Amino acid sequence: MKRVAIVGGGISGLAAAFTLEEQRRTGSAEYTLYESTARLGGVIRSERIDGCVVEAGPDSFITEKPWAADLCRALGLGDQLIGSNDADRKTYILTDSRLVAMPDGLMFMVPTKILSTALSPLFSWKTKLRIAREFFNPPRAAEADESVASFVMRHYGAEMVDRLADPLLSGVYGGEAANLSVRAVLLRFAEMERTHGSLGRGMLSTRKERQTDANLPAPSLFTSLKDGMQQLVEATVSRLDRASLRTNTPVQVIRPEGGGWIVSALKSDQFDAVVLAVPTHAAAQLLSICDPQLAAELSAIQYTSSITVGFGYDAAVRRSLPPGFGFLVPRSEGKRLLAATFVHSKFPYRAPEDRALLRCAFAGSNAESVWQFSDDEIVGMVRDELRQILSLRADPLFARVYKWKSAMAQYGVGHLDRLDRIERLLQKFPGLALAGNGYRGIGIPDCIRSGREAAERVLNL
Ligand SMILES: Cc1cc2nc3c(=O)[nH]c(=O)nc-3n(C[C@H](O)[C@H](O)[C@H](O)COP(=O)(O)OP(=O)(O)OC[C@H]3O[C@@H](n4cnc5c(N)ncnc54)[C@H](O)[C@@H]3O)c2cc1C
Repeated sequence: MKRVAIVGGGISGLAAAFTLEEQRRTGSAEYTLYESTARLGGVIRSERIDGCVVEAGPDSFITEKPWAADLCRALGLGDQLIGSNDADRKTYILTDSRLVAMPDGLMFMVPTKILSTALSPLFSWKTKLRIAREFFNPPRAAEADESVASFVMRHYGAEMVDRLADPLLSGVYGGEAANLSVRAVLLRFAEMERTHGSLGRGMLSTRKERQTDANLPAPSLFTSLKDGMQQLVEATVSRLDRASLRTNTPVQVIRPEGGGWIVSALKSDQFDAVVLAVPTHAAAQLLSICDPQLAAELSAIQYTSSITVGFGYDAAVRRSLPPGFGFLVPRSEGKRLLAATFVHSKFPYRAPEDRALLRCAFAGSNAESVWQFSDDEIVGMVRDELRQILSLRADPLFARVYKWKSAMAQYGVGHLDRLDRIERLLQKFPGLALAGNGYRGIGIPDCIRSGREAAERVLNL
């Protein structure tokens, strides 16, 4: 029987445990999952407050990537999956202190409808001309990796970086477009440039292919669960062997010995294999003695922090908010807030009819700049900015602040080359697998895929 240690009880580690659980039941493997805190789920946490489902961390996952919904179905949660209310989808960008709706036909940050883009006050005439010219870009042979900012700048200019690329990516990675690798973060766009030249033409041709594939209605962009993302954690944990789960048990170090691994936590134990499902900075610490070179590569992957603030308001506020999913704030607007989501509009089952639920976020350097303040002070700052942006003066019925230190991986320029080097270094250790948000996808579906693949890798030793 193979003995496997899983370090980290976030969704990546839980997905690895779920895969190993199937083997445990057949008697071919056993596992121990170590989690340093008292609770499982990592950054996934939902609270029910005043009838609202308040997400402390992620609020949903992207539907296009199947691994999270597949896991939900395997857990019997198929009937609990909900889609975002895309018919009401409208997102605003704060532009010169005013909320301007993103124009119709914008696919991520690529404009595909000339007329709505031309009429939108989001862009200056200079940028609109660049957008029109971009449609004629010839295919371009792929060169070295570059930052998302320089890639978008080449296609559409600086205003597009500031107004769309930067805030959209900050929402996902918590970082700045200038620090993120286009190959690691927007590989699809880099490929489009190679094959089509123009991203606008590339997007249109992808959309056409998809439409002819199936005449079904488009699925919602985002998927969540009726009672919140924590349902996924609870359902996974309920399928695992309780005796195999060790909370409040931080692992200090791991080292190879006699063809297996010694894992040192409160006490040391021996395993055939280890899945490290922790952020890369934590994995680097655990491996610092056994392989300093691997540890150095892992610790070079940067992480940023984020803060989310949930607010509940009454029916009058709900009526007063602009229709849509919420707004994003470009850095050039000089605010601390990155975004606010009108959660009651974005998803069903999140708030009673007579409540408005807002989720506000700080990311990256803005999160760091307010980190030292108390929850009350942070609530005050957010309310101040909501007053300026939405003229929202009402007192909230409740407010909750959630801080996530060094939780969002930043895929810097050259990230994929670094992953190649990490994979080469790992060849020395067939009984070691890495999972989590530091590698090939920060979102929940990719984390689940990485956890399941890591478990399969160590099972196939
Ligand atoms: C605020 C926020 C909003 C997000 N929004 C979305 C979203 O809407 N959609 C989406 O798809 N993704 C979103 N993400 C990203 C996604 O939620 C995360 O990337 C993913 O949940 C990370 O899971 P993980 O298991 O890899 O890591 P984590 O959740 O960080 O879990 C790692 C676990 O390892 C434990 N650990 C660390 N060191 C040790 C040790 N030495 N010993 C034992 N245990 C240890 C930690 O305590 C933690 O529980 C968001 C992330 C954040 C922070």
